[in-house]
Amino acid sequence: MEYLSVGAAQRCVLESVSTLGAETVRLEHSLGRVLAEDIRANRDLPPYDVSAMDGFAVRSADLANGSIELEVVEDIKAGDMPTKAVQPGQCARIMTGAPVPQGADAVVRVEDSEALPDGQVRFVKAAPSGMDIRLRGEGMRNGDVVLAAGTEITPGVAGVLATVKRAQFEVYRRPRVAILSTGNELEGIDEPVDPDKIPDANSYALMAQVQALGIEPVLLGIARDDPAELERYLRQGLEYDVLLVSGGTSVGVHDYVRPTVEGLGVRMKFWRVAMKPGHPLAFGELERADGTKTFVFGLPGNPVSSMVCFEEFAVPALRAMTGHARPHRRTVSARLAHPVKMRPGRTEFVRILLSQDEQGYVATSTGNQSSGALLSMARADGLLVVPRDSSGLSAGEAVTVQLLDGADFQDEAGYRE
Ligand code: AMP
Ligand code: MG
Repeated sequence: MEYLSVGAAQRCVLESVSTLGAETVRLEHSLGRVLAEDIRANRDLPPYDVSAMDGFAVRSADLANGSIELEVVEDIKAGDMPTKAVQPGQCARIMTGAPVPQGADAVVRVEDSEALPDGQVRFVKAAPSGMDIRLRGEGMRNGDVVLAAGTEITPGVAGVLATVKRAQFEVYRRPRVAILSTGNELEGIDEPVDPDKIPDANSYALMAQVQALGIEPVLLGIARDDPAELERYLRQGLEYDVLLVSGGTSVGVHDYVRPTVEGLGVRMKFWRVAMKPGHPLAFGELERADGTKTFVFGLPGNPVSSMVCFEEFAVPALRAMTGHARPHRRTVSARLAHPVKMRPGRTEFVRILLSQDEQGYVATSTGNQSSGALLSMARADGLLVVPRDSSGLSAGEAVTVQLLDGADFQDEAGYRE
């Protein structure tokens, strides 16, 4: 089998997966979920022409010639309805959000008025018609789709849902995800420390990667490199929507994952991707008679490779399954702080720190880039993507950086005032 490019492998994954149907959630528990229905406005907002300021509702014609003193006929607070029309020579005191009374066609802010001892108010400037009035339906119109299916619930979206009075609504179901580590050498987190063993990092790095997507995975534990034991664990994992297996997917004589899942009916779609770190990576699906599927990612055993493969393939897959219209991680452009050596042939992902100067982002390697060097992954803000055909990058060169979880905050405000 040919080595697939990262892009071709991502397309294969995204063409294979689909959303899993909808469920109802309450607004209070919906952050990060994705709407499975279009949401429409249930009334015009604002429901009538309202004041955008605390001030006076006036007839603009009265102010056309500059200085004028007007009689205050009413005091309209937010929540009040005006009871009087504003006649020539009159105005109404009005608060932000209160309905503009009949007759008035502009609002003058308090700062631009002067209260006189006789109770009248003096205005010295003209006020164009429409000034500081928010028109009925300017924010949203009754019946219009304000949020389309596929929209992620962010704080702003939650505010819109509350505005259109949707206390509950349909979102896409989240996939159920199982995680399995494989290898005789692995030591579980609660087992006593044995200097001859390798601590199981992958279960927990993958767990956190899945959790960062808003999904609570199930850890199946550690399967030994034994076909019968592996089969027992894999059977269990195939009960989920997505199974992430790390280790044992290579071509070594004790790498039983691929033949075992194939024996359980999983159809492999690819197992070779031209990337570094990341080799070997397998992707396949089990389709049941009722049409339901389990997607299996056979991730490399090396902790960094496992995490990078998760980022490149499982992130878009899980996000697409959850209904996200934007499945891929955000990338930003940066300048390289130093040269990067490369051999052409594989897309390389370099762990980097991001800093910022006047010209934008600067990418600096986090150090040892070996696929087992988990500390350099733990420190990273992002993965610098070195294109497959590159034979090296020089200092100052413009590069693409894919952001990692935790990279969306920085130690100083990004603006100066
Ligand atoms: P494998 O892909 O099974 O050949 O594993 C490649 C390397 O990754 C070996 O050095 C393993 O010890 C290491 N490895 C495999 N699984 C894990 C894990 N769950 N946690 C930490 N290291 C692992
Ligand atoms: Mg192994």
